Amino acid sequence: MNEHAVVIAGGGPTGLMLAGELALAGIDVVIVERRANQDVDGSRAGGLHSRTIEVLDQRGIAERFLSAGQVHPALGFSQVALDISDFPTRHNYLLALWQSLFEPILADWVGELGVPILREREVVGFAQDDTGVDVELSDNTSLRAEYLVGCDGGRSLIRKAAGIDFAGLDPSTSWMIAEVEMDEEPEFGFRHDSVGTHAIGRREEGEPIRVVLTERHVEHTGDPSMDELREALIAVYGTDYGVHSANWISRFTDMSRQAASYRQGRVLLAGDAAHVHPPQGGQGLNTGVQDAVNLGWKLAQVVNKTSPESLLDSYHAERHPVGARVLHNTMAQVALARADDRHQALRDTMTELLGMDEPRRRIAAMLSALDIHYDLGEGHPLLGRRMPDLDLHTADGPKRVFTLLHDARPMLLNLAEPGGFDISLWADRVLAIDAEYGGDWELPVLGHVAAPAAVLIRPDGYVAWVGDGTDTGLRDALTTWFGSR
Ligand SMILES: Cc1cc2nc3c(=O)[nH]c(=O)nc-3n(C[C@H](O)[C@H](O)[C@H](O)COP(=O)(O)OP(=O)(O)OC[C@H]3O[C@@H](n4cnc5c(N)ncnc54)[C@H](O)[C@@H]3O)c2cc1C
Repeated sequence: MNEHAVVIAGGGPTGLMLAGELALAGIDVVIVERRANQDVDGSRAGGLHSRTIEVLDQRGIAERFLSAGQVHPALGFSQVALDISDFPTRHNYLLALWQSLFEPILADWVGELGVPILREREVVGFAQDDTGVDVELSDNTSLRAEYLVGCDGGRSLIRKAAGIDFAGLDPSTSWMIAEVEMDEEPEFGFRHDSVGTHAIGRREEGEPIRVVLTERHVEHTGDPSMDELREALIAVYGTDYGVHSANWISRFTDMSRQAASYRQGRVLLAGDAAHVHPPQGGQGLNTGVQDAVNLGWKLAQVVNKTSPESLLDSYHAERHPVGARVLHNTMAQVALARADDRHQALRDTMTELLGMDEPRRRIAAMLSALDIHYDLGEGHPLLGRRMPDLDLHTADGPKRVFTLLHDARPMLLNLAEPGGFDISLWADRVLAIDAEYGGDWELPVLGHVAAPAAVLIRPDGYVAWVGDGTDTGLRDALTTWFGSR
């Protein structure tokens, strides 16, 4: 039986990101993936939000994705456009990039880091004991791991086999979605009727046409046929526009469910395995990638025995509320898109509200995940929030904060007198950087905040401690997050 520190079930966006994070920390990790290659069937995620691009930037790989996509200044909340070009981030836009392009780029990075992917195999079962997990594969082999992470999507076998409750709402609406060619020029754009919202679009001239149709009855069994697509088009538009040559036809629903626990002993869940919701607002892939970045360094430290197992509890404590909030806002977006007059009145009211500055900033910061605030206690507004990507002056010349995070190592950034902190006991774990920064400190939604004298930054880019000129609380924060000495 082959042994690894961590086995990841599923090599989609979440599993790939987690594997990269673990590999950066020197962990022996393997992915087990059902698909033969990284091809993505059908339409899935269409874009990356600001915080996801930031976490990729923290690893030095954002440019790979930026060069493959198109930048848009506005996000959509139930199709109400929210401009974010005034947001205090280098990535103040939505990056339009299909999941079918996103996954191969991420997989290349994971390949460069040397992570093996066992393809055309499935995890079919597991048994955990005090020291590890036996992971059973579909080819009748098995793996032994210290930890197993289920990144195996919404129908997660790992979640089901662990008996973790997946509570939430059954579907109330389903949508047919397809990528096709049409003989006649269709009516591009949105159409609203008594059934709901429908849309026909094409990103670029020469690309296939994408169709999304709200279905009259909730369907959630299997993919629709070409005949069903034709009938649905005629029901909405009075014509099928001579539709033909479908690359794929699929459907999705507004089912919203979340795992009651993201961890059961040595088994963890991340991404769609932990939360499913409709695609309104485009947050699923983004949330999964960020789950992975929260979990990766923690799991690495537990495997490396620099931190106790209890550090893993902070993964559920921090990411479960984020997932719950995503479910909540997608439910609101589905409700707002309902077709009757009362919902239209609600939609008009919301559109007016979102045209105002403060509501726009709040809702857009939530969708882009720039406003995430992990509850690390009372203190400076930066505590538990993302560290901004400041332009620093260091002894080695100008450096961006995110550049210093490329190796996914924690960092004490001292912005006061050089050499003001002695963290030599943690020298093998935590980078100590003396730097100067004379600019503004501006956070999304909160605006300007007081300049701190020092900050302790976790590998995921969130601030674990803020110094006021003394080292009060620093030892405790170092011990909590990066282990005792
Ligand atoms: C129509 C539509 C539009 C969407 N639009 C957006 C959007 O705009 N923005 C956004 O952020 N998200 C969007 N999403 C959601 C996004 O596609 C998912 O959230 C994302 O793919 C989740 O990634 P994941 O890695 O967690 O799971 P998945 O992508 O489902 O990956 C799971 C992987 O596990 C593998 N697997 C499953 N079971 C096993 C097993 N037992 N053993 C081994 N391997 C296994 C699968 O083959 C797969 O590769 C959309 C989804 C849909 C359906």
